[in-house]
Amino acid sequence: MALFGGAPAMKKGDMVYAWTTDKAIAEKAELGGAVTGLWKYALDKKLVDAVLVVKKGSDLYDAKPAIITKSEDLKNTAGSLHCGTLLLSKVITRYLNGAKDKKIGVTVKGCDLMGIIELVRRKEINPENLFLIGVNCGGSVSPIMARKMITDKYGVSPDIVHKEEIDKGQFIIEYEGGHKGISMDELEEAGYGRRTNCRRCKYKVPRQADLACGNWGVIGEKAGKATFVEVCSDKGANLLAQAAKDGVIQTEAANPKGVEIRAKVEGAMLKLGDKWRKKDFAKLKADTWGTINRETSRCIRCYSCIENCPVCFTKATDLKKPSLMVGAGEVPPNAMFHMRRFAHISDTCVNCGQCEELCPMDIPLALFSHAIRVEGDSVYKSKLGEATYTN
Ligand code: FAD
Ligand code: SF4
Ligand code: SF4
Repeated sequence: MALFGGAPAMKKGDMVYAWTTDKAIAEKAELGGAVTGLWKYALDKKLVDAVLVVKKGSDLYDAKPAIITKSEDLKNTAGSLHCGTLLLSKVITRYLNGAKDKKIGVTVKGCDLMGIIELVRRKEINPENLFLIGVNCGGSVSPIMARKMITDKYGVSPDIVHKEEIDKGQFIIEYEGGHKGISMDELEEAGYGRRTNCRRCKYKVPRQADLACGNWGVIGEKAGKATFVEVCSDKGANLLAQAAKDGVIQTEAANPKGVEIRAKVEGAMLKLGDKWRKKDFAKLKADTWGTINRETSRCIRCYSCIENCPVCFTKATDLKKPSLMVGAGEVPPNAMFHMRRFAHISDTCVNCGQCEELCPMDIPLALFSHAIRVEGDSVYKSKLGEATYTN
């Protein structure tokens, strides 16, 4: 069924190369600007009331969410920020009333999408009013790590870098007077590179969105100039087809060799995720209780991990009251403070890494909750068979 009228010749499962025809967007975009071009079209045609995207914050290593209602404001939101580690699901509940009364378009990485799905399950977000354009994700680098890595490994001041990108397994920087790329494997072996939760992440192509976009598989003369779009829903098919019909986006069939390459890269990334899981979980297994106790003994009870968890929506003010298991005012809190949180999210943690990223005491919280989730899933998997366990 054509949701937006017309008779689009596009369907779920189609794979195309796509790019915008808007020059201003194309100039700022990462790979041809299909994503931003589609948002412009959706706003102009009033298919959505607002789009929630990410734009550069105070510097290249900072990302901030932006709620855009006028399409002329979109061009500054084009481009990929690999050091922008924020998560968008709670922005929808906090600032957009859970999309309960407005149609909202959102650009999502896999973890944004999983966070949204968990909040939909809790009836905090209305999925009917959401339009989701997914971007493939090989991982992100925390802003502090990015600065340290560029200083130590690249021998460059992070302040003179004007562009960063991750391409063909390398983290590449462009700066006044040059550019330099180092393979992510080499960086990670040396203790730098992607966030640890990203290394373990296995949601590389966000197929639960309406469209999944990325650079993997774009070969030939379109390499670097177009994005590879996999159509994942009827809604996605209609938007893409209508935008193409009206000349806002151009598309061509994806090169079959490119489709093959994309599948191979995705497979390799999944294997890499398994490798990191094995490594990280083995370290934890060697002394689980000792590690959790030692690490959490630094906790200053700031509640940041709870406030920023996309799955949990308990208010910190409620948790400050004395409870059955955790006394008020105790710092560091007793082990039950953490055990209660781990139990609470044991079957829903999406491994987005926000708890760890925003913990002022650098406690490896994501590792603990991810290990609990993966162990729990393995029980369901053995009973129910392979379902979509992507975290
Ligand atoms: P544009 O028109 O430039 O639009 C990009 C959109 O992404 C904008 O809406 C922007 O707000 C949003 N965005 C930018 N940074 C973030 C962020 N940190 N979180 C959420 N949204 C953001 N593709 C691959 O095939 N393989 C990869 O390994 C891969 N890794 C990626 C890692 C990250 C962190 C990101 C953000 C993207 C990644 N991509 C990857 C997708 C790719 O870089 C392009 O975003 C995609 O091809 C769309 O290109 P475009 O020119 O159409 O997008
Ligand atoms: Fe990307 Fe996964 Fe890391 Fe999220 S957790 S930023 S989807 S690699
Ligand atoms: Fe404790 Fe860190 Fe959570 Fe703050 S974010 S409550 S310091 S574990």
